[in-house]
Amino acid sequence: MSSVYHNVLKERKPPVVDEIIPARTAGAFTLKKGQFLRVIDVMGKQVSDTTYYNLHNLKEKSCPGATEAALRTPGRVSQGIDFYAGKLTVGNKILSTLFNPMLTLVYETPAPGGTHHLGQGRMCSRWWFEKVAGEKGRNGCLELMAKALKDGDFDVKMEEIPDPITFFMRIEINPETHAWEIREPWTRPGDLVELRAEMDLVAVLTACPWNPGTCNALNSKPIRVQICDEPDPNMILGL
Ligand SMILES: [Zn+2]
Repeated sequence: MSSVYHNVLKERKPPVVDEIIPARTAGAFTLKKGQFLRVIDVMGKQVSDTTYYNLHNLKEKSCPGATEAALRTPGRVSQGIDFYAGKLTVGNKILSTLFNPMLTLVYETPAPGGTHHLGQGRMCSRWWFEKVAGEKGRNGCLELMAKALKDGDFDVKMEEIPDPITFFMRIEINPETHAWEIREPWTRPGDLVELRAEMDLVAVLTACPWNPGTCNALNSKPIRVQICDEPDPNMILGL
């Protein structure tokens, strides 16, 4: 007597939002609590800076510092986990300026080691383009986010935009100088991260325009955003 087991992948319902953020632009999206945000590196080696806002109180926003603080809890330190994580991985939550959970990272495909960074300084901007690249008047992620918020009628001014949570960015410590260095991203075409919204929120994402350096492998490319109502039925979340 024999048994036959069928391991059939269940199909996920199509996303309710499926948009391309063209290279060197940004987009603003609303998510309800429980929805899933998928950020897809369409062509590979492209960074997306992201910020998040409580839909019902836009002054409460994502905070790399609070997120990092939660990763430094005594339990983690006593387990020998690095005091300064600097990176997000599956199970980690993005916290707000009030330490409320905004999103949980539930799935990621990029190479091990993590490529999603916290608190590595201000996102690229006109200031960066002028000071570092000598190019005047080029919009960075900061200006692109401000425009996306304005176009979406969200009352957040440029100076109120927090430092970003940066997906697909590869920053490593140089063992000789002990300095953080930006390197070419690991990501392959189609690599993605998926986050579950823990509150109703506004998500602002860029297809980072920075191309003087290795951050985007010298070429600005698009980012794809999908929003799903339900989790992937094949995924065991438990988070
Ligand atoms: Zn940027």
